[in-house]
Parts: sequence; C-alpha cells; structure tokens
Amino acid sequence: MNTAEGPLVIVGAGLAGLRVAEAARAAGFANRILLVSDEPHAPYDRPPLSKAVLLAEGHEREIALAPGDSLAESQIELHTGRAVTAIDRTAHRVILAGGEALSYGTLVLATGSRVRTLPSLPPGAPGVHYLRSLDDALALRRDLAAASRVAIVGGGIIGLEIAAASSSGRQVTVIEPQPRVMARATAPAVSDYFERRHREAGVTFLFGATIADAARNEAGWTLRLSQGPDLIADIVVVGVGVLPNTELAAAAGLEVAPGGIVVDAHGRTGDPHIFAAGEVALHVNTRHGRHERQETWAHAAAHGAHVGRSLLAPDEGYAETASYWTDQYDINLQAWGTPIGETDIVRGDPAGGKFLVFHIVGGAIAGVSAVNAVRDLRTAKKLLGHPPPPDLANPAVPLKAPG
Ligand code: FAD
Ligand code: NDP
Repeated sequence: MNTAEGPLVIVGAGLAGLRVAEAARAAGFANRILLVSDEPHAPYDRPPLSKAVLLAEGHEREIALAPGDSLAESQIELHTGRAVTAIDRTAHRVILAGGEALSYGTLVLATGSRVRTLPSLPPGAPGVHYLRSLDDALALRRDLAAASRVAIVGGGIIGLEIAAASSSGRQVTVIEPQPRVMARATAPAVSDYFERRHREAGVTFLFGATIADAARNEAGWTLRLSQGPDLIADIVVVGVGVLPNTELAAAAGLEVAPGGIVVDAHGRTGDPHIFAAGEVALHVNTRHGRHERQETWAHAAAHGAHVGRSLLAPDEGYAETASYWTDQYDINLQAWGTPIGETDIVRGDPAGGKFLVFHIVGGAIAGVSAVNAVRDLRTAKKLLGHPPPPDLANPAVPLKAPG
C-alpha cells in the first residue's frame, strides 16, 4: 500500500510524532506534513523533566527535540496549541478545537499518554503536582523551592526520579502500595539497590500503603493513609502511572483496548489511512509476536521512525528490543530486553555500586539490567536468547559473546 497521496497529518508532536514526520520526509514523502500539538511548545524531550530540569533553572532551554530550523528545512509544518477534537473518517479530515478542519491523505495518531490521577489529589489543587509536560515540571520546580516536606505518591520510576531530584535539604516520603520500589520496571535486586541509595539520601519509604483521603489547610496537606499515621506535607507529587490517550481513535470507531490504539506491526489501524505510533499504540512487535504497549523513550523514537518509514515502504515489521534508562543521584540504570525474570542472576557486588542483573525466562537470558555498568552492557546484550553460562554471576570470569 502506498500512502503518499495527500497531506500527512500527525496528531501529537511528542517524540513519536516528530520521528514519524522526520522519517516519512527522509523516506521521500513528497506532500505536506503537518504536525499538530495541543501543547504550546515546539517538540521537547521529556526525560530531563524529572531530572535536570527539576535540579537547575535554565535546563528547559536545552531540551528541544528539533532545534534551530530543522523542522522548516524538512518542510514539516508545526501547529502548536491546537488540540484535535475529532476525526471525520469519511471526509478524511481532523477537526481542531475552535472548529477548523485539516484534510489528510494519511493520519498518524501519536497522542501519547496522560497521567493517571487520584480523585482526592486533583491536578491543579494548590501544592498538588503531576509530571508529564514541561509546564508541569516548571510548576513543580517553583513549588519545590519553597517546600521542606515533600510527599511522593507512587514509588515507580517517575516518583523515584523526583525523590532523587528533591531530597537535598528536604524531608521526602514516598508512599508505595508494592513492597519494593520500581516494582513494575525492574527486578528485586535492582529495587533493593535503589531503595538503599535513597535511604542514604534521607528519603523515607512507606510500603504497602495507599492514600485513603487527603485534606489541605494552612499547615499543608494531611494525607490519611490506608495504614499508619497521617502524613503532613507542603507539597504532594503524584506518580501513579499513565493512561494512553485513545479517546480520539475510539470516538472515530477505530479499535482501541485498555492498553492503547490497536495497530499491526506497521502501525496500521483497521482504517488503511490511519496509523498510530509511540506510547499510545498497542502495537505488534514481531520479535514477541503479540500486541504490547511500551512506555519508554527508546520505543517512542524507534516506533515513530518505523511508522514514518512504513507509510512509504513497509518492511517485515517492528522488531525493536525494549529498553529504558533512569538516572537517580549518581546511579545510572540501563535496562535491555525483559527487565524482570522468572529468576534473576546478579553479577558483581551491588555494595560496590556497579553490577549487572541477568533476567532469565524459560531457561534463557531474556534481559539484562546494568547499574553503573553501561560498558559491560554491550557484551551482555549479545547473550540475549542464550542459556546463562555457568560462571555468569562471577565478575572475575570475563563476559564473552557467544560463538
Ligand atoms: P508523548 O510524549 O506523550 O507525546 C504525545 C503528545 O501528543 C503530547 O504532547 C500530547 O499533549 C499530544 N496530544 C495528545 N492528544 C492530542 C490531541 N488530541 N491533539 C493534539 N495533541 C495531542 N523514558 C525512558 O526510557 N527513560 C527516561 O528516563 C524517561 N524519563 C521520563 C521522564 C518523564 C517526566 C516522562 C513524562 C517520561 C519519561 N520517559 C522516559 C518516557 C518517555 O519520555 C515517553 O515514553 C515518550 O515521551 C513517549 O512519547 P510519545 O511521543 O509516544 O508520547
Ligand atoms: P509506574 O506505573 O512505573 O509506577 C507507578 C507506581 O505507583 C506503581 O508502583 C504503582 O503501584 C503505584 N501506585 C498506583 N496507584 C497508587 C496509589 N493510589 N497510591 C500510591 N501508589 C500507587 O508509573 P510512573 O508514574 O512511575 O511512570 C509513568 C511514566 O513514566 C511511564 O509510563 C513512562 O511514560 C515514563 N517512564 C519514565 C522513565 C523514567 O523516568 N526513567 C522510564 C520509563 C518510562 P501498582 O503497580 O501497584 O499500581
């Protein structure tokens, strides 16, 4: 199928949407490309929002994803501050807030995710923060400057990155229903290491707890927990996961599931003129042979580029290996492949601050997590799909790529 007829309209100018536009143009797409964002900013990178942007003023000026004139040079038309409110599949148009319509030959939905919210801590309430956008990060940084007691609801990656960025000089408490940190994202050995480092920095953890109720007065927020005494905080930051922005697709009659907009291994929906890319797409990865959704930077970049290329010249299908990283204090974690195994083999002594964890599924290495060990990761990645060698846990025996 050749989808080069008519303009390409991309809804969402995050990483995935931008990569769709760039890849389609690089692959020879000759018609207009319109990148439409409901945010007021040109495309920017989200990972620094929970790290450098919180720590230092001015860093927000260094996070442009398409710096200088690169969009204009590629003849990609950026429309910021324009939410798409509906898709008219019969007329091949999207409707913008305010009523204006844009015609498309091909439409790509790259609408990403929004934060999951808690009713007792509504976004916009004084001292309550959620973190997804640049504006969220700037508002959080402003409020952190005056706060001494910070409650973080959710001990996932975002919650812990915010804890690391805010713990200096403040009393930080993380409330997490699971018995360990980053439980969805990493193996117990890695969680333990991160938890220890946070405790050294003075962070307190309340595991097995959720928010039963929350109220605010002059003294700040009082959080009533599902167990244990109340917690008082000047500000509350909530990081309890995200929900894919599937509403536009659903209202247009496209197939959506709780996990996202359902697409094939080329990002195609059931409508031959409409695709979905990045975090919103419940896509097929041909390596795994099933639908899945990935909430990582590397996936948004790779899937966006793949969908952009697929519009003109589909290959065998999307087949990237999953990966993510996180930076907290002086710790860098790089995860490659499956991040939690049926069993996990630790290589190196976590007390030394540098180690690998191999994740074993069905008797083979399905993933590896590298803590401050990015150099070892290069060889470790080559072991994926192979049974663990007998001396894998012993760092004195060099890692060798198979045959
Ligand atoms: P998004 O970035 O969500 O972009 C979607 C865009 O579409 C948004 O701008 C949205 O406003 C817009 N949009 C939605 N609906 C409409 C509409 N109707 N009309 C117009 N526009 C619309 N990943 C890592 O691997 N490592 C990290 O360290 C890391 N750190 C992160 C830190 C933070 C604070 C956050 C929020 C994410 C982080 N991630 C990290 C995850 C990574 O940034 C995301 O997976 C990635 O940004 C997803 O890209 P996307 O383009 O698919 O979606
Ligand atoms: P996660 O889903 O990773 O973690 C959320 C945590 O909050 C989970 O442990 C969850 O527990 C817990 N939780 C859920 N409900 C409550 C509640 N009511 N009270 C207290 N805790 C609760 O999401 P994050 O918010 O940490 O991250 C969101 C996004 O960050 C990702 O989707 C992705 O876009 C991005 N990301 C960031 C990375 C980074 O910062 N380095 C790396 C990769 C992705 P439970 O599991 O029991 O629901």
